Amino acid sequence: MNILVLNCGSSSLKYQLINMDDESVIAKGLVERIGIEGSVLTHKPTGKDKYVVETPMKDHNIAVKLVLDALQDAEHGVIKSTDEIAAVGHRVLHAGEKYIESCLVTEDVKKVVRECFDLGPLHNPANLIGIEAVEAAMPGKPNVAVWDTAFGGTMEPKAYLYAIPREYYEKYGVRRYGFHGTSHSFVSKETIKFANLDPKTAKVIVCHLGNGASISASIGGKCVDTSMGLTPLAGFEMGTRCGDIDPAIVPYLMKKENLTPDEIDTIMNKKSGLLGITGISSDFRDAEAAMNEGNERAKLGLDMFRYQIAKYIGSYVIALGGCDAIVFTAGIGENNAGHRAAICEYLECLGVKIDPEKNKLRGDVDFTGEGSTMKTFIIPTDEELMIAQDTMELLSK
Ligand code: ADP
Repeated sequence: MNILVLNCGSSSLKYQLINMDDESVIAKGLVERIGIEGSVLTHKPTGKDKYVVETPMKDHNIAVKLVLDALQDAEHGVIKSTDEIAAVGHRVLHAGEKYIESCLVTEDVKKVVRECFDLGPLHNPANLIGIEAVEAAMPGKPNVAVWDTAFGGTMEPKAYLYAIPREYYEKYGVRRYGFHGTSHSFVSKETIKFANLDPKTAKVIVCHLGNGASISASIGGKCVDTSMGLTPLAGFEMGTRCGDIDPAIVPYLMKKENLTPDEIDTIMNKKSGLLGITGISSDFRDAEAAMNEGNERAKLGLDMFRYQIAKYIGSYVIALGGCDAIVFTAGIGENNAGHRAAICEYLECLGVKIDPEKNKLRGDVDFTGEGSTMKTFIIPTDEELMIAQDTMELLSK
């Protein structure tokens, strides 16, 4: 049985067709520049050559149709008809407080996606368009919404409320939601399986370190706390996002530089983080190359990243009342031994020890050192597979 996984952004669409009999990816691809000049679809069928379609795509409806055409293409396709797609799993950003589990798309679910446009202004509208485009292209095909915020739904009020007048929570839903939920959920559960931890009581801290980055603390796979907040801007230094800062900086800079709310928002989201500190790049590989050539600002940007992450982990050990496993995932977390080692060095005061040789390995890795108080792992994330698994599970209910 095949599940199509769709992740629609404001001008992009990523997809994977997964055979759930063996959880293998049959084809995957990316549509870029939807609604702007230069639209392009890059389709990669497993074991075959990549297929690129450059044609104007004025909206996601056309993009979805072209994806389905590519999947069924005589030469580059992998299925004969859309009958071979059992259902479609959609990554949806924000469910507010309405859903803390994946669900079959109904009119009510679409209403929630719409109600949360304000909370996820870039993603929720695109997610809804993606769902409606599939409904139009394949009427009657089950669609499943897998929410990025769902994992954070198990936090207690003491973890999710901000100490501002309560009316703002009640009126506008201002609270911590957390993001990358699919990844945190997948990786925390994979860790429990991989390390043979108790599925009910395992205390796990997951560091999802990609261009966007967040850390979660969970018990038995249920989120207790997480670093992103009302929006993905909160937490620690990321590629272009500032993470937690003194909130008074916002009005201070707005007054000093005569900035509008949108302008300060852009500065904090797109011009800060590693890019803002180094002045070089938002890409952690570029910063590392510059640091190795002696660039002090690049070194500082990377030192800040490691230091802030270590502080988050330390605070989450307290939040969990101890910790069984610290896990690294996503682009930086999975691929950079230097950052892992430097972060874990800060944690030596908590008794964390790593095995430096095992830390250099790839894939599912236990790189815990002899006599460590907590285990340390690398567990690659697979958000698409998790979306497909949730979709399958809902189909069989
Ligand atoms: P996103 O999905 O948020 O774009 P990814 O999880 O794909 O992020 O991670 C992208 C980031 O991972 C980039 O900043 C890239 O530089 C970084 N990255 C990938 N490989 C390495 C590596 N070996 N060392 C350092 N950073 C890496």
